[in-house]
Amino acid sequence: MGTAAMACKVCKAEMALHPIDPVCGEEGALKVTLIQLPAMVCPNTHRRFAMPQFPILLLDRIAGTDIDTLPAGKKSGLIFKHYQCSACGAALEAAGREESFDFDVTLENLPPFRVQLATQFYNCTSCGKAQMRSRDDVRKLLPAAMARAFKAARLNPE
Ligand SMILES: [Zn+2]
Ligand SMILES: [Zn+2]
Repeated sequence: MGTAAMACKVCKAEMALHPIDPVCGEEGALKVTLIQLPAMVCPNTHRRFAMPQFPILLLDRIAGTDIDTLPAGKKSGLIFKHYQCSACGAALEAAGREESFDFDVTLENLPPFRVQLATQFYNCTSCGKAQMRSRDDVRKLLPAAMARAFKAARLNPE
């Protein structure tokens, strides 16, 4: 599936599955880097997703699995946001620092590749545990960060 011979829509040359990298994009405090991303490439360097549903499969995988493995605090307050430690409930420090995490991802029967997520982490003022302020906040940045990465890599839906 998806990896059978297909013709480039731009130049009609035959496309082949080929790893490309790095594919990077960011939105707000989130940076997404895709390493050895499998994509269809023609001899004239035109590119396409390995399969049409690739972007949505990848979004589902990162938003639904990988982000859940990262430690995150709890957000409260309707107008003024407060962020609390998931371990002890104390406030998180105001100043964060960037941390990055790598995940091995396999989609359908494509070759495995790596996803790196980098975002701001904050220490708890009481127990010191480092965590994102809010998992939901980071998750909301993901579609735009991925779209930027794909666009920068000239990966088009068609
Ligand atoms: Zn081409
Ligand atoms: Zn704590």
